[in-house]
Amino acid sequence: MQQNLVLYNTITRKKEEFKPIHEGYAGMYVCGPTVYGDPHLGHARPSITFDILFRYLQHIGLKVRYVRNITDVGHLENDADSGEDKIAKKARLEQIEPMEVVQYYTDRYHSYMKDLNVLPPSIEPRASGHIIEQIEMIKKILENGFAYESNGSIYFDVPKYSKSYDYGKLSGRVLDDLLSNTRVLDGQQEKHHPADFALWKKAEPQHIMRWPSPWSDGFPGWHLECSAMSTKYLGEEFDIHGGGMDLLFPHHECEIAQSQAANKKEAVHYWVHNNLITINGQKMGKSLGNFITLEEFFTGNHELLDKSYSPMTIRFFILQAQYRGTLDFSNEALQSSEKGLQRLMTAYSAISKIKPDNTAETNTSGLAEKCYKAMNDDLNTPMVISVLFETAKLINEANNGKQRLSETNIAEITKLFETFAFEIMGLKNEEKQNDDKGKTDELIDMILNVRMDVKANKDYATADKIRDELQKMGVVVKDKKDGFEWEIQ
Ligand code: ZN
Repeated sequence: MQQNLVLYNTITRKKEEFKPIHEGYAGMYVCGPTVYGDPHLGHARPSITFDILFRYLQHIGLKVRYVRNITDVGHLENDADSGEDKIAKKARLEQIEPMEVVQYYTDRYHSYMKDLNVLPPSIEPRASGHIIEQIEMIKKILENGFAYESNGSIYFDVPKYSKSYDYGKLSGRVLDDLLSNTRVLDGQQEKHHPADFALWKKAEPQHIMRWPSPWSDGFPGWHLECSAMSTKYLGEEFDIHGGGMDLLFPHHECEIAQSQAANKKEAVHYWVHNNLITINGQKMGKSLGNFITLEEFFTGNHELLDKSYSPMTIRFFILQAQYRGTLDFSNEALQSSEKGLQRLMTAYSAISKIKPDNTAETNTSGLAEKCYKAMNDDLNTPMVISVLFETAKLINEANNGKQRLSETNIAEITKLFETFAFEIMGLKNEEKQNDDKGKTDELIDMILNVRMDVKANKDYATADKIRDELQKMGVVVKDKKDGFEWEIQ
């Protein structure tokens, strides 16, 4: 089935039909996390939003190369050109190597993304692994005359660029306003203009993360990594660039300028931005004390939380809003998501209990069409969810004898759930998973109890065989004085 996906393009400020550059293929780049702290609710929304887009593009038949980076160097504290590197600061406070910080939080990020059923990207490049590409890109920008050296650092020349191109076209900011609104920061005296931004920073003597370059021992500016890595893996022009709305300025605006200045091409065809999550109507922030990590959500261990919330509840809560809409966290909102998700999963499990009645004249063929229409309209997941609720009602009515469904109806609604709830929206039936795990545990206990009996009968060969076979399946058994212990490895 041909599906015409329409996406809101932030740069043209309108909905446009998605037409990939190469037929049958889509290249997508999304700004990933700066790995210096535990993943929180703010990380969940972009990762889930672009997971949906990744899944849907594949579902409609495209081969997708999805690149999501890991920022492990160059992201300075105030997102400008001064202050300490966020990762180096954490490393200093913890007295460990910066790359230990990076590894630890990258692993944590991956583990929480897996909990949220976010698919891993096709490529996950790290900024520190692409210093050469970044230096090469700076050389091109210098050659093309859009950057200058100042005291061993290289800055992008925004006023010069603005003479030929529209700096501010993504964020809608005007250079004159930038001039008056820019705070005077450290190292500002090196810049010719306050709106200029660093491509390469000369490292202070105490700065740990540093690399040699033609200009100084130093490190790349934060914005540069995404331009360099997207060019490397997706080409000078590619289909989709995504990220949170908080990255519109300066990060993405600077990326546009860098790629244009280096490659003399507009790199991105569709800019897609998710809106942010507020907590009880307030912006999230460490200083506001409302910064809730995913671990805290999953354990309920935070003073703002009434209880713990499962990963699928968080995922469902995020999908209940269209990605460009605002989304406000509250315990009430999450609890209603939890109930809603439960209702859908219970209905899905109840499909198999429906007694088909082939004389039924209920029409269910339009449901999938409604879901496709919603997905094609800029990923309208709340609309898809409302169709699933409508279907859940139908299932319940059929089970209560208030509605008749034919075998075709049942096949169609089963497919509807499998396609939209599980494949495209990436939901999982957590209750069933817990049930399955409980059953596995019981089975292993039962087998090991039989083995105890076998041992009591001095049939050691059979007892060993059971132990070895379990071991092959990853179940490691330890014999104890009066019983056994086991764990799955
Ligand atoms: Zn980026």
